[in-house]
Amino acid sequence: MPTRLDKVVFRGLEVFVKRDDMFYLSGNKFRKLYWLVAKEPSFFSNNHLLSYGGIQSNAMLAIAQLANMKKVPFKYFTKQIDIKDNPKAFKTNYMLAKELGMHHVPLKDQEYNSLVETQDFHHVLPKGMTKWVGIPQGGATTDAEAGIQQLSQEINTWAQTISQEVTLFLPSGTGTTAFYVARHLDPSIQLYTIPCVGSQLYLQEQWKRLDTLSTLPLPQILNPRKKVAFGSLWKPLLQTYHELLATNIEFDLLYACLAWDTFFHAIENSQIDVSNRQIVYIHCGGVSGNPSQLDRYHRKWPPHP
Ligand SMILES: *Cc1c(COP(=O)(O)O)cnc(C)c1O
Repeated sequence: MPTRLDKVVFRGLEVFVKRDDMFYLSGNKFRKLYWLVAKEPSFFSNNHLLSYGGIQSNAMLAIAQLANMKKVPFKYFTKQIDIKDNPKAFKTNYMLAKELGMHHVPLKDQEYNSLVETQDFHHVLPKGMTKWVGIPQGGATTDAEAGIQQLSQEINTWAQTISQEVTLFLPSGTGTTAFYVARHLDPSIQLYTIPCVGSQLYLQEQWKRLDTLSTLPLPQILNPRKKVAFGSLWKPLLQTYHELLATNIEFDLLYACLAWDTFFHAIENSQIDVSNRQIVYIHCGGVSGNPSQLDRYHRKWPPHP
């Protein structure tokens, strides 16, 4: 079932939002993990899912949801981290994942760094574990292509039903989603992505990890107007969040708000030209992280009563 596209207006321009946030495994993580979602139940019997990454990662939560759905144990490796009990009225991604049965394993810095570097789980496997699936941070693997190809095909089919040419944009973390969207997208569709986690160079390096071919169609990169460290607080992101809420669709503060701010800034400064083109945004999910991020904003800049 293709996800729907909803029309919204933002800063006077009409934008269609591809509602990938409506999946149970939120957003692009459903697409990236689709190769596992589609496996037969027998694949999961006596199996284990393993992954690693940040303690509030959206991918972590999506894998926990998948593991819960498939009734397979999930171990998640991180650096040593102080997890403060959260007495507040909201749940973090970490709390939600724990409730779904995720087993958290903090590693020593050296062990963790080598796992990140090699993507090799052999050194961290519990004794006797023989059947397991290791998912690299953020679900960034070539296996992700199948689900993302499906996303491109849905957009291609939709684009044929409208009279204008399409300009598509989406945020990038590992860039896996943007990379495979580009590969399967109709060539008449322009594709922009915004690096939200690292620099343009980091993004290009992630792409090289997925494929060495240099003849592939790649997304065009739009750099944010300010370097914002991933997860840090920047007032324009909060302003964009509230502006976007007026569309009646909620977007995430870390990726989406930076992507919209960057894309519309590029239009306003004539860096890109979207006249006579239909803008489409791929909603990559991630709103489960908003309560804790909003709490951080509100402690730094208390909202006016
Ligand atoms: C994971 C995530 C991304 C980044 O996806 P990549 O395929 O790693 O580039 C973007 N937006 C949201 C909301 C995410 O959760």
